[in-house]
Amino acid sequence: MIANKRGVFSMEFAELYQKAVEVLNPRQVSGDVETGGVAAALVTDKGNVYRGVCIDTACSLGFCAEHAAIAAMFTAGENRVEKIVAVGWDKRVMAPCGRCREFLMQLGNPDAQVLVAEDTVVKVKDLLPYYWTGDNQ
Ligand SMILES: [Zn+2]
Repeated sequence: MIANKRGVFSMEFAELYQKAVEVLNPRQVSGDVETGGVAAALVTDKGNVYRGVCIDTACSLGFCAEHAAIAAMFTAGENRVEKIVAVGWDKRVMAPCGRCREFLMQLGNPDAQVLVAEDTVVKVKDLLPYYWTGDNQ
């Protein structure tokens, strides 16, 4: 059960968290590829949820769960992330890596909310201070 220690873990994030947990499925696909050890769920400005899982490969050809969820959103014809969460194999909330922070920022909604810990929500722009385009000033 996810705590609501500071009141920032909204019901919507609780639902998103559960959606991400549902697609966790860590497994070895081949000798060089693992998947499903991290899952992400996002909700768009239209209220739709998209999910994805990581793909980890021997030669760094894979990508993060956040990328997979965003790709699913694009595939469905949507463009705007409002909230996103990623969870690890142990169901712990995971903050996005640097690459995903940059990717989220470049999607054009610096105010999108990211659950970075069970009790902490941060705007994308606040994950990237001194952003190179100046868009988060
Ligand atoms: Zn990442």
